This record gives sequence, structure tokens and C-alpha cells, in this order.
Amino acid sequence: MNSTDIQNIHSLLSKPKKIAIVPHRNPDGDAYGSSLALYLFLKEMKHDVQVVSPNEAPAFLNWLPGREDVVIFEEDKAYARKIIEEAEIIFTMDFNALHRVGEPMQKVLESVKPIYILIDHHPEPDDFADYTYSDTKVCSTCQMLYQFFEMLGVTDKITKDMATCLYTGILTDTGSFRFPSTTSKTHLIAADLLDRGVEHAKIYNRIYENSISRLHLLGRALENLKYLKKYKTAYITLSNSELHSFNFKKGDTEGFVNYALSLEDTVLAAIFIEDKQQGIVKISFRSIGDFSVNDLARKYFNGGGHINAAGGRSELSLKETIHRFTSVLPQYEEQLNKDHE
Ligand code: 5GP
Ligand code: MN
Repeated sequence: MNSTDIQNIHSLLSKPKKIAIVPHRNPDGDAYGSSLALYLFLKEMKHDVQVVSPNEAPAFLNWLPGREDVVIFEEDKAYARKIIEEAEIIFTMDFNALHRVGEPMQKVLESVKPIYILIDHHPEPDDFADYTYSDTKVCSTCQMLYQFFEMLGVTDKITKDMATCLYTGILTDTGSFRFPSTTSKTHLIAADLLDRGVEHAKIYNRIYENSISRLHLLGRALENLKYLKKYKTAYITLSNSELHSFNFKKGDTEGFVNYALSLEDTVLAAIFIEDKQQGIVKISFRSIGDFSVNDLARKYFNGGGHINAAGGRSELSLKETIHRFTSVLPQYEEQLNKDHE
């Protein structure tokens, strides 16, 4: 994003406009945090603004400031469509291609001609936006939004509620400031957000506190963990009936894949979760070093993401999906066994 773009956006936002903000389907802390921080900011600037989310966020994000104002496309199609059709500006947050909102909402977004502004850190963004602020090196869209506010010269307008949303996305997308994408800039931003009143201990607890059924489900996931020494690969499976017997709620399996990655001598980790309702197996991949799970997910599992964190899906059964996974591993044997930090 160059200075002309910033000047243009600055003047675009200098008068009240109708604005919609869209996170990706199955929004995570970063997608919801960035959308809500931007929502609260634009509302404060007297714009007529709404967040339209393709579907519900997991319950552990329900306390985020502004959450109660979000319009859910899946639940309120006519109203959501009206907001999108009337919007003069649409911000797309934390995704790189319109299909990431799911087909029904994608169609609506493709049928309108607002000014699109994309803010995202996923690789290879599609060319649909009038203004594209994309940087794959930044840990989170929330950090990018903070930097966007810096470029606009408006960080002094960040309230405690906006800071809470931004901090949440940075926290969740960096695995609590652990992942290599965390930089000194990330910490400087976090420091500024704390100075604006963020209650970091409270946020951590709200995001990571567990229900007993989730802990029991985690127990089952860990029992199911398998390690393929030859490929330095660890993976977890959860079948539909296992999810049911542990009272599965949306968001419960978030982070499980990181336990597989934490196993010593693991370069590639995956979790396969059966979703009988959608008739798919949802997959999360994680890796360390320069092994790209983005490539693996794109090539074989209809997905994508980042080099070390990606997701995908399979329409095969759980068993067949695992078979497909293990049968593509041999071609990566050399890559998986070279030195990874
Ligand atoms: P997670 O495994 O936490 O669901 O997702 C990890 C990363 O991969 C996230 O950045 C997410 O946006 C991306 N991702 C997850 N599922 C998909 C998918 O089905 N398609 C694409 N293109 N990206 C995905
Ligand atoms: Mn993100």
C-alpha cells in the first residue's frame, strides 16, 4: 500500500459512508478481532458501518466488544444482502480470495461494485480489491490493521475496546506470541495496546479456558495421535461419533493440532476432523521451518493458508482421507527429513 493509496483512503473516509466489513467463514480470533476493531473505529468516525460475518464465530469469541452488532449472513440473509448491496466501501479482513466466505455470500460479494479494501496476511491474494494491503510476513491481520491506523495517522483514536479486539487477534494468531512471525514490532504494538487499557490476563482466560467436555475430547484426540517416524509426521483423527460422545461445540478442537506439532522430532502435523453434516473431513496442517503446508493443502486438500499453518478439506471418508494423506507423504520424505530448526 503506497502513500497515494493511503491518501485516497484517508479522503474516502473523511466523510460518513456506508461501509461493510467482512471476515472469512468460520471466523477466528484474528478475523473477528480485526473486523470488530475496524467496526468500532469507523463507528466512532460516524460512518454507517456493519460487520457481516458469513457464519457464527466460536463461543470463545462471544465476549468481544461489538460482537452483539454483527450480522450473520447465514442466519439473516436478506438483511446481510441489503447491507452488502448498499455499501459504498467493503473491507475484507483476514482472507485472500472471495471463495473464503463460502459460496452463497461469495455470489453476493461478486454481484456488487463497491470500493473493496483488502487487509490480509495470507499468501497470493486474488486481485479483486481496489486497495490491497497484503503482507505475508506480518503475524496477524490485527497487527496489519494497527499498522494501517499508523499509516492513516489515527492510532491516538484507538480506544480500550478497539485495543481489546486487536490484542485478541494478535494473541490467537501468534499462539500467544510464540510463533516465529512474532517480531519486536508485534511486542511494541502489544505494549501500546496494554497502555490503552487492554486487560491481557482476562483476555487470555476468556480465549483459553476449557469446558470439561473439551478437555475430555482433547484426551481422546491425544489417544488417537499417531507418529510416522519416517516422515517426521504426527497426526490426530476425530470421528463424528467421537465428537458427539464428547459433546462437541464449535471451537472445541481449536489448537489441538499444536499438540501433534509439539511432539519431539515432528516437522509436519495434521488433524483430521470428520464433519458428517457437511459431508467432509476438515483438516488443519502445521509445520516447522520451511516445509510448506500451504503447498500441501493447496495441492491435495482443496485448501491453503500460510507456510506453517494451513487448512483444507476432503470429501472422502475419514479413513480414505488418512490413506490419501499417508500416500502423498513419500514424495515429501526428503524435505521432511532435512534439517528443520
Ligand atoms: P486452521 O487450521 O487454524 O483452521 O487454519 C490455518 C490457516 O489456514 C488459517 O490461516 C486459515 O485461514 C487457513 N485455512 C484454513 N482452512 C482453509 C481452507 O479450507 N482453505 C484455505 N484457502 N485456507 C484455509
Ligand atoms: Mn489471520
